[in-house]
Amino acid sequence: MNADKKNEFSVELHEKSSVKKVIGVVSGKGGVGKSLVTSLMAVIMQRRGHQVAILDADITGPSIPKSFGLKGPAGATEEGLLPVMSKSGIQIMSVNLLLSDATDPVVWRGPIIAGTVKQFWSEVIWEDVDYMFVDLPPGTGDVPLTVFQSLPLDGIVVVASPQELVNMVVAKAVKMAQKMNIPILGLVENMSYFKCPDCGSVHEIFGKSNMEAVAEQYGVPLLEKIPVDPIIADLCDKGLIEMVKENWFEEFAKVLEK
Ligand code: ADP
Ligand code: MG
Repeated sequence: MNADKKNEFSVELHEKSSVKKVIGVVSGKGGVGKSLVTSLMAVIMQRRGHQVAILDADITGPSIPKSFGLKGPAGATEEGLLPVMSKSGIQIMSVNLLLSDATDPVVWRGPIIAGTVKQFWSEVIWEDVDYMFVDLPPGTGDVPLTVFQSLPLDGIVVVASPQELVNMVVAKAVKMAQKMNIPILGLVENMSYFKCPDCGSVHEIFGKSNMEAVAEQYGVPLLEKIPVDPIIADLCDKGLIEMVKENWFEEFAKVLEK
């Protein structure tokens, strides 16, 4: 955790918690695979022997517990809330793990949402976390911005899909990150291509992407291009994302470990 990033919004970590590095995952809009990328990054760091946590800050669209097959309610002690452990030992906290019915919509206003995220940071007892990944709300509006300001992020990763105006998404994220003095660690293109399981040929179904050019333009690395893959969708649906065969983000993991 970067101690210099304290600002008027920042809240203290629970005294029983220890979190070394906090990485935010952002996107321009919902549905582009932000939660998938968050999960895959957590999975690879866990596979590489680190203590890993996911803070699901996407309060109105929480989907992390589902892809890990987790249900609440999360436990609590007098000291605070306890994260729920995934099968492979990733510590997870999400609003879905607190609702009695995970299909209940969260219809809270911005300040309450931001307050909840702050509580996930300060009132959950995170235990010896090397890498915490934060699934942030999509966009650069008021709620994501406040969430962004509430957590001591060490860096962010921007996820986009080829159908988007990637240039604009990235430009906004870069500006937001600069304003907050937080480095952009890289870009991810999700749903980048489709690889035919029979013949192995690659199809850019959403057209040619300009992600490489955008990455170069802003001087940030393109971390990964993830294909549209029915197996990935199925693993998320069944709560088995930890069984993913590929080691996506392995190169990025090595960079984080330096
Ligand atoms: P976001 O968090 O940005 O709203 P999600 O990560 O929840 O997006 O992804 C939206 C949906 O698309 C989920 O059902 C997920 O399983 C599916 N999905 C995301 N990326 C892929 C992919 N590369 N291949 C197949 N399905 C995907
Ligand atoms: Mg999501």
